Amino acid sequence: METVFIGFGSNLGDRVDYCDRAVTLLSLLPHSRLRGVSLLYETEPVRDRTDPGEGWFLNGVVQLETDIKARSLLTTLQEIERALGRDDDDRSGPRTIDLDILFYGDCVIKEPGLTIPHPRLHQRRFVLMPVNELDPLWVHPVFKRSVAQLLTEVSDESHAHLLFPQPSTRYGSRPNCQVPPGS
Ligand code: ADP
Ligand code: MG
Repeated sequence: METVFIGFGSNLGDRVDYCDRAVTLLSLLPHSRLRGVSLLYETEPVRDRTDPGEGWFLNGVVQLETDIKARSLLTTLQEIERALGRDDDDRSGPRTIDLDILFYGDCVIKEPGLTIPHPRLHQRRFVLMPVNELDPLWVHPVFKRSVAQLLTEVSDESHAHLLFPQPSTRYGSRPNCQVPPGS
């Protein structure tokens, strides 16, 4: 079994519902066990190579243990994105749900269409914060730095804060769902 971190984000429609459905589907994957689900973070849309529109994102991270190989996991995530209504014709536009493999154990993969660790995760506060919540000592296998260290070094100026109040989930479970003190 490998430990994997999957980032989810939604900035279109009923964002909480899309996130909850994605978490539920991930929790039901075969040959896999849900280890943790972060709180939800609300984040400003980042305009780098894409134009996700004006809507703020809800973002979070799921931690799984799985026997599903990285490539199959990517295919499965794309099926879940499609099932939840993501528009394949405008992939860089506003999205009902975006699912990214952030870490797959300590594997480093660079293939057409699949880069692990996710190539931009260390630049994104809204990804590092929820991974830090789940496992601050997790080490990035390329940079050899823990997620907590990467978070102190990130220069991302975009706004990311915990969604408050956190919604009660209608689907699945949030085993790690405890608001950290002082937040
Ligand atoms: P982004 O998530 O960067 O906003 P997309 O969700 O449209 O953009 O993904 C674009 C492509 O990124 C996908 O077609 C997929 O093949 C590729 N990709 C490469 N590495 C990963 C990864 N680790 N997780 C998810 N998708 C990835
Ligand atoms: Mg994606």
